[in-house]
Amino acid sequence: MRTVNMWIGNLLVVGIMLLAACGGGAAAEEDGRLQIVATTGQIADAVRNVAGEAADVTGLLGPGIDPHLYVPTEGNVTTFSEADVIFYNGLHLEAQMARIMEQMAQSKVVVALGDELPEAQLLTWDANTPYDPHFWNDPALFKTAVEIIRDTLIEADPANTAVYRENAEKYMAEIDTADAYAQEQIARIPADKRVMITAHDAFGYFARRYGLEERGLQGISTESEAGTQDVQALADFIVERQIPAIFIESSVPPGTIEAVQAAVRAQGFEVVIGGELFSDALGEEEHEAATYTGMLRHNARTLAEALGE
Ligand SMILES: [Zn+2]
Repeated sequence: MRTVNMWIGNLLVVGIMLLAACGGGAAAEEDGRLQIVATTGQIADAVRNVAGEAADVTGLLGPGIDPHLYVPTEGNVTTFSEADVIFYNGLHLEAQMARIMEQMAQSKVVVALGDELPEAQLLTWDANTPYDPHFWNDPALFKTAVEIIRDTLIEADPANTAVYRENAEKYMAEIDTADAYAQEQIARIPADKRVMITAHDAFGYFARRYGLEERGLQGISTESEAGTQDVQALADFIVERQIPAIFIESSVPPGTIEAVQAAVRAQGFEVVIGGELFSDALGEEEHEAATYTGMLRHNARTLAEALGE
């Protein structure tokens, strides 16, 4: 698998060089507005809110798409090549995009938001992945990312400085409101039931922000698969702690969490699937979780309803 990915990576790099050779400064957009590409739904939502009408924003990873595993297509490379500014999460979230981002950074503004955040506020992980990349699940950290987006847009397009400032202020106030709502929801859960169990460790920052314990079956990236021992260990933990509900994630197949549920049942205890959380991707257009703040509300309320009394 690794070999195939590298091969695709090489092909893409050749493609980028060709595009660069043919297109020249392809960033010159017809209407003069800044052309921006963002990888995850959460980042695209923030950039759209800060940019407003002043720039064109393309989001790359739609509902249900797992950024850990996503391999960029040739079409994505064209999209990147035509952008003036690219925002991505970084901290190894988009593991298959590292080389393309490196290439793109030679000719345009490319910002890995996670790499720009204060290190002291990041959760550490292991030798291969020093930091947990899922920082957006802490709205306070996400607001720092919004400020970085704002400042990047101002630098790239100073004529719209006032617009970007005003939009960012408004968006950050909306984040504060959603954050307060999430606090209220989590407060409904009895202290000994504040444990969130999901398919992978996407909620470390959320747990830190709202005072929960967090356990993921697959670790910090969905690249590593859970073994029978992991399933068994998590089942033992659930039975021991009498945890009433566990959760599936919209961007991860539900099979692993269902296996945990079955292993718990085999021990004579019943744990329900408490609903679907949005971890690494936003929801469909008509869903509450189609926006970043909607995602925060949905996740907090889903947890409160399943774990609360
Ligand atoms: Zn993840």
